[in-house]
Amino acid sequence: NDTLAGRTVLITGASGGLGERFARIAAAAGARVALCARRVDRLEQIAADIGAGGRQALAVALDVSEEASVKEAFDRAEAAFGTVDTVIANAGIEHSGSVFDISVEQFDQVFAVNVRGVFLTAREAARRMQEAGQAERGRIVLVSSITGQSVAPGILPYSASKAAVSHMGRLFAREWARTGPNVNCISPGYIATDINHDWFATESGQKHIRTFPRRRLLDEDGLDGVVLYLLSDAAKNTTGANFTVDDGQTL
Ligand code: NAD
Repeated sequence: NDTLAGRTVLITGASGGLGERFARIAAAAGARVALCARRVDRLEQIAADIGAGGRQALAVALDVSEEASVKEAFDRAEAAFGTVDTVIANAGIEHSGSVFDISVEQFDQVFAVNVRGVFLTAREAARRMQEAGQAERGRIVLVSSITGQSVAPGILPYSASKAAVSHMGRLFAREWARTGPNVNCISPGYIATDINHDWFATESGQKHIRTFPRRRLLDEDGLDGVVLYLLSDAAKNTTGANFTVDDGQTL
């Protein structure tokens, strides 16, 4: 399938987990992909693997919490592939602990990556798309979480940061409605990645899974369809939406 042919997709946090998955499925759908994260060695392996499959991929070092780094990453992606018309703001971190245990440093760190990072990434993307006259078909997808809607005890900064991400998604969509790009959020339920590997290995993590109606985490490919749709031309009338894909975990 070539539904993303002609698109250049930049993905933050692409060195593993969901970001790597999104990069691979976007490339398989015909897009050129710029894979961004702090760990460039791992990105280079993924890019080489995608390249070996006959698609175009570039590894770019990026810290989403630093404005200069975000600008530089877009410069590098543009130099290689032309205007970035499609972005997945996926990078995110988590610190767990009760409200009394969370340090100010941990709180600030989560907001620096999850909130400031999404703000900087989406703003840089939209500005460049508009300047290049590519915003009308532009697509930005923000990766939020079900914990931005239903409160998640034990991960206050993360849960609050994701509520902010979902809110920013609607605000961007409204502010850029006339020109584009379209901006949408996905709010995934729990899915096995490095971010929660340790927690789901514990007895309380396992107990938590048993509270879900289907008593399981999302499948590895459970988000593919919605992401491909939101990046594609088919989503031309979809902006300001937030797609919850949680296998019924919040029911
Ligand atoms: P992960 O820890 O496997 O991946 C996170 C990625 O973000 C990594 O590539 C990491 O290098 C990158 N990253 C972290 N800080 C960064 C920074 N400052 N600059 C650039 N990149 C940075 O976790 P994941 O589960 O794949 O998470 C991806 C996104 O999905 C996150 O936003 C997360 O909140 C969200 N999410 C995950 C789940 C889940 O259950 N795994 C559920 C809902 C939402």
